This record gives sequence, C-alpha cells and structure tokens, in this order.
Amino acid sequence: MPLIAIVNATVIDGAGKRTQGATVVVEGERILRVGPGAPPADARVIDGTGCSVMPGMFSSHYHASYRMVGQAGLPIGMEGSPGLLTLRGAHNMGLALDGGFTSVISAGVPHAVDASLKQAIEEGIMRGPRIMVGSRDVSTTGHSQDTYMRWHWQAGEHPGALVCDGPEAFRKGVRTEIKRGAEIIKIFASVGHSVRGKYGLMELSREELKAAIDAAHERGVKVRTHIANKPAIRMALELGMDVIDHGDGLDDELIAMMVERGAFLVPSCFHPYRALPIRSGPHAEIMKQDMEAMLAILPKAQAAGVKILVGDDFGTLTLEHGEYGKELGFYVEHAGVSPSDVISWATRNGADLMGMAGELGDVRPGMLADLLIVKGDPVADITLLGDPGNILLVMKNGQVEKNLMAERPVRVTPQQLVDA
Ligand SMILES: [Zn+2]
Repeated sequence: MPLIAIVNATVIDGAGKRTQGATVVVEGERILRVGPGAPPADARVIDGTGCSVMPGMFSSHYHASYRMVGQAGLPIGMEGSPGLLTLRGAHNMGLALDGGFTSVISAGVPHAVDASLKQAIEEGIMRGPRIMVGSRDVSTTGHSQDTYMRWHWQAGEHPGALVCDGPEAFRKGVRTEIKRGAEIIKIFASVGHSVRGKYGLMELSREELKAAIDAAHERGVKVRTHIANKPAIRMALELGMDVIDHGDGLDDELIAMMVERGAFLVPSCFHPYRALPIRSGPHAEIMKQDMEAMLAILPKAQAAGVKILVGDDFGTLTLEHGEYGKELGFYVEHAGVSPSDVISWATRNGADLMGMAGELGDVRPGMLADLLIVKGDPVADITLLGDPGNILLVMKNGQVEKNLMAERPVRVTPQQLVDA
C-alpha cells in the first residue's frame, strides 16, 4: 500500500495537545505511525516545516442546501427544485472540504439532499466530506417553520418540514425519514434562538417527542432538536435526546443533566452574533440576551464535561457557507474558551457524535487518516483556521483531497535519523 509521511510538523491531537516535530506516516486509508523517527524509505514525504498536522474537522450543525436564508422569500430560502438545492449542496460540500472540514453532520435538509450527496461522494462523482445524513425538520402542524407558510396559499408543503400530529404520526414520520436515508433526525421542539414566536412555546407534546426519539433509537439513529428554553431542554434530555441544538436557557442543572446523559450541545452563537446587527425589536432583544448568557456559561459547561460541538446556521444572510473555520476563533474571543478546547469540539467531539470515536477525530496509529496540514500553529493563533488559504493539505481516508503544499526538498533532521 502507498505510504505518505509528513515530517517536521507540530502534531495537534483531538484534545488540542501539541507534539513538536513528529513524523506522521499514513498507509492506505489509515495512520500507521505518529512519533519520532525518519520516514520510511519508500514513502512519499511531505515537509511540514512551519506547519501543524491536525485531525480533519467536523461541522456538526450543517445545512447543505441553505443559501441566503433570511433574505430570499418563503419558504426561508428553500425555494428551487430538488436538483438546484442538491447542486447548492454539492458546491457547499467542496467549501467544507477546502476549509478543512472532512466531516459534516446535518441539522436538517429538504428533498433528501444529504442522502444524494453522500451517495454521489461514495460513487466518486464529486468530492466532499463524510456526511451524517439529516432529515427534514419533524414537527407539528402550525409549528414555527410551518407557520411561515400560512399566508402563502397554494404554496404547498414546506419542503424542509415534515408535519406530524400525535405519537403515531411522529413514529411514522421518523421511520419515513430513516427510509429516505436519514442517519440523524432533526426535530423542531421549541421556538427561540433564531426562530421567532411565543417564547417558551413547545412545538410538540411529551408523548410525541418520546415516540419520535424511541422510533429513531430503536433503529440506531440519533436525534437532535432545535430547542431554546429550560423546561423544554429538561424534557428532551429526560426522554433521551442526543443533541441539544442552540440550548438557550442552559444553566447549572441542565449542564449536570447533559453530562450525566452524555448529550451533545451545539451552542451555535455565531449566527445570532452575525445576525443581531440587522435585527431589531423584542425578538432581537431576547436573542441578544440568550446569546450573551450562552457565551457566559460555555466555559462552565466545558469544565463540567459537556460534549460541545462547532457547527452553525451557515447559509444564512449574515453567515455564509465557507466561513466555517471562523467559528472556532469566535468562541475563543467571545466565550473565553481555550483554542485547544474548541479544537476538541471540532474534532474529537464531532467524531463521537458521528459514532466514530476511536476511528476519527484524533491523530493516532490505527485511526482513519482524515488529516489537515495547517500553515502555522492554530493553538497559538486559532484564527488561522478561519482562512481556507491556511489549510494547505486536506486528507480524507488517506486520500489527498486538497494540496497547496509547495513541492520542496525534504529536510530530515539529525535527531530523526538518531531516533530511527
Ligand atoms: Zn440550523
């Protein structure tokens, strides 16, 4: 099998811990060796001097088909044929890969776009990251997204939503989404965060939510939810919700529950931060308060052991696809979280949600080789990850997907020769 060796780089693992000057050897699709020593004689050698090698990142709240949501007409930027939305998704998948995101985990998509993209990538007809396929937004008649449609008579069904009423309908709805390829189900459980409406309103009953979660878990499928108030979050956690999206209203009690149950949190504060300057009125005021409260409590959630993720509503009016890496610097600057910790959100925690802990999200022998070579040291300067131009090489499954490394002669240090 072909060997690739990256030498002279700083290795950053899935906890954001650095090791200087290690050699990383990749054989086929997996990492063969990480540590001191010269590269194997028959390896293709890449000189990583001045660079870092880190795990490929995960964007864990991803909407492949979003474009200018908030600007385009109803239904919230999902107009267009399934073909057009799929092509948009294909374009965005390329942006993800080029920005160092070798995996994306969907937070909802119409027309089974994710499932189509995933198959196309596996067939080798387009490039893109690993995809954990999402569902439509499952919720009840008249829920916040459904209400957008109210005044658009003849507008038909919202393509991004699946309306269900009653536990049986939720069971069938979840099963339908799984049949359409979903590997993670998205449920709209409450208004709040980016979604206007009566604050604290639950979109569905406890029985409906339980039926949905159970139907997914029986089939080994995870469930995530748009949710933004304390009683709703507590109920979702009690029923076994896997991912709390947004989670406005998080407090000490909920943090303890999340740690105990191993639930994931997507704080997704980058979207409100970008959207607030163009919003006004009472909803904007609540949005601002919720964002500030979340940013303030995040270090506590991190210290307590909550599994926090990066990923946000990219593809909205003020947050474009391709800006994914800027989110890490945002949390360092505005929440005071360490660069190493946000790197673990984007690597190790994402792999855990995908069900691939031990296979992805770290730089260790035996793991799948989803690796990045980054110009400079993102632990010292996290903003480096915000510019795809600094992501010099992207490897997925041992395959080089992007390569901006200048071809240059490799210098093997005397120490490496001694270690070998
Ligand atoms: Zn979203």
